[in-house]
Amino acid sequence: MWSMIATWPFSLQCVEKGEEILKGGGRALDAVERGIHLVETDPTVDCVGRGGYLNADGELALDAAMMDGDTLKMGVVACVRGFEHPVSIARAVMEKTKHSILVGQYAESFARRMGFQEAPPEYMITDHARLKYEAEKDKATKPSGHDTIGCVALDQAGSLCVATSTSGANLRLPGRVGDTPIIGSGFYVQSGVGGAAATGLGEDIMRTCCSFRVVDLMRRGLSAQDAVNEVVLTAHYTLKQCGLKPDCIALVCMDARGNTAGACNHKGFAYACAREGEAPHLVEVPPIIDKDEEQEG
Ligand code: ASP
Repeated sequence: MWSMIATWPFSLQCVEKGEEILKGGGRALDAVERGIHLVETDPTVDCVGRGGYLNADGELALDAAMMDGDTLKMGVVACVRGFEHPVSIARAVMEKTKHSILVGQYAESFARRMGFQEAPPEYMITDHARLKYEAEKDKATKPSGHDTIGCVALDQAGSLCVATSTSGANLRLPGRVGDTPIIGSGFYVQSGVGGAAATGLGEDIMRTCCSFRVVDLMRRGLSAQDAVNEVVLTAHYTLKQCGLKPDCIALVCMDARGNTAGACNHKGFAYACAREGEAPHLVEVPPIIDKDEEQEG
């Protein structure tokens, strides 16, 4: 059995690539990495890699992570500028160093040392992203826009892997890191148990350690759907209990048999999915609770 999921409709291309690799007996690690490459390169995806949202200084600084469910090793990079595939730099941190997290200029010099090719701002920053930045940078209203590709795969050998990649929230403070590269919040995986990844406002997802909780509930015997529902509801109501107004929280997960599920607290979330016997397709996820209706009511 093989299976793969990734957040948002723009990830259909990612699971299509993953299908090619997993169907042929390839590794989950390669499926998530090569699938995410397509989204990182796609200039029309405005929240991941090339063409992603700029920070308040007009720079494109990217976050990414990979975790191997067989070994619990992970690699993370945060605030990396000038490289097209932060997910591959994250994989190199995981596989070629004793460490887990490298940030900013140090992650960039590591990437150079590892032979990753640099990508100039003229290539990485699209006209669309620059125009959005110019139009919104001085507005007093809350900047709109954030999303992540979070991808989980199971290969035919039974290994699970997760990876994430994002430009982070639109107009974030330079140096701000969201949940996407934070273990247990934006991603978690253990082979034989399950994997999870998050998308939504990083600050809220980090406050409630969403991805680890999903995997831990599957470890305790909950189904993928029950686990992810429970975590979105608990996160949402925990934030409210603490006097906060929950922003977007969406999670996807997969159990050790390749069953998949998603849950969210807002309208409009969907994920891409492909499995043995199921061609790549999109799954719309109805909100388990709707933060916008709740706030109006
Ligand atoms: N979680 C990402 C961040 O906060 C953005 C998102 O997935 O919506 O940087």
